[in-house]
Amino acid sequence: MQTKNYDIIICGGGMAGLSLVYRALKEKVWVDEKILIIDKDSKDTNDRTWCFWQKEGVKNEFEDIVYRRWKDLLFFSNQKEKLKLDTGSYVYKMIRSIDFYKHVLAYIRQSDQVDFIYHDIISIGNLGSKAVVKTSESVFESKYIFNSIYKKPELKPEEQYFIQHFKGITIRTDQFKTDPGEMFFMDFRTTQENGTTFFYTLPFSQNEIFVEYTLFSKSLLKPEEYNSKIKIYLSEILQINDFQIVEEEFGVIPMTDSSFERRSGNVVNIGSAGGDTRASTGYTFLNTQKTISKILTSFKEKNHPFFDNENISNKHKVLDATILNVLDNDIYKGDEIFTDLFRRVKAKTIFAFLDGESTIADDLKIMSSLKAKYFIGPFLKVITR
Ligand SMILES: Cc1cc2nc3c(=O)[nH]c(=O)nc-3n(C[C@H](O)[C@H](O)[C@H](O)COP(=O)(O)OP(=O)(O)OC[C@H]3O[C@@H](n4cnc5c(N)ncnc54)[C@H](O)[C@@H]3O)c2cc1C
Repeated sequence: MQTKNYDIIICGGGMAGLSLVYRALKEKVWVDEKILIIDKDSKDTNDRTWCFWQKEGVKNEFEDIVYRRWKDLLFFSNQKEKLKLDTGSYVYKMIRSIDFYKHVLAYIRQSDQVDFIYHDIISIGNLGSKAVVKTSESVFESKYIFNSIYKKPELKPEEQYFIQHFKGITIRTDQFKTDPGEMFFMDFRTTQENGTTFFYTLPFSQNEIFVEYTLFSKSLLKPEEYNSKIKIYLSEILQINDFQIVEEEFGVIPMTDSSFERRSGNVVNIGSAGGDTRASTGYTFLNTQKTISKILTSFKEKNHPFFDNENISNKHKVLDATILNVLDNDIYKGDEIFTDLFRRVKAKTIFAFLDGESTIADDLKIMSSLKAKYFIGPFLKVITR
């Protein structure tokens, strides 16, 4: 096999890989570099939706393709208590992946700096001062590789590995009775026998809504179990019996306190593969954008992509690990934890905490809203390991 050379190779042209190339070209950080994007998939379906919160007036790099925004967020406990969340100036946003892929690919394809190939990547590594990728059909070398192909980390015995798994459907119906301006941020009005289980319910309009059945647990359900729980929720909670499914998505996101390698030689891991998924929530989109900002700043200032200060600080990693250990003990159940939290702490404080922007006072407010006796053991376990 003949080896082909590039300046930069992107292994995995999904959310992280495409965001990086799009932003690097747009911000003119890569002007002469020859870039190769390798993915096994052509990214032409709406395979996922990305949600995240941002303060009003704060724009992200993909603001033009935000599909929906909600200001009014509701929380429902398993005991059917309804809380209207105080989100302060935060807005909850959704981007559909198909809009993202179309938007960034249209931009990237205009550039003669970028080649695409659709191969299965077999291995990624370093050879001397070069980064090397082998695919099913070729070998490519470059100065830097940005890798977003997720590999489950090798776990140490004391580490937790939960998965956030979910099935979402977009439905059309005439039976939705709630205000479409209100988004159900977490709706625990479903049974909890398989772990922490809730629905996200995002109305797109009075007759189009997206509902996602979501679990934090250690194993997947059978496909029909997701469907039957969604049907029960629609019928018993939302009183929707007549509907048409427009779109579906299924996903699995890691929630782990294991560590991810950001860098190995000239290979930089980004997205979920680089540890940009928040362990306690699974949210990844904005963390990845923050990581990309750091990579681009480093290129501008130092002409290389390496950076030191991670978005998810050690303090937040310890707190996330503690939460995973509390969930693992299964005495203080996830639905009770989230209910105590949202009942006693303003959502805007929780969002700041989850963004890694909380103050010590905020952290204390959050910790004191929860039943401390269930946290002491897991916390000590995490900090002494
Ligand atoms: C259905 C779903 C919904 C989600 N919703 C949210 C959300 O609302 N908010 C949020 O913050 N996060 C969400 N996430 C989590 C996270 O944001 C996404 O998984 C996001 O796509 C991660 O970006 P990434 O670039 O790390 O991985 P991906 O976007 O999955 O990109 C990895 C790419 O690598 C390619 N690839 C994999 N293996 C190979 C191989 N061997 N050879 C070649 N190519 C390969 C894949 O085809 C893919 O294009 C969601 C995840 C899923 C699955």
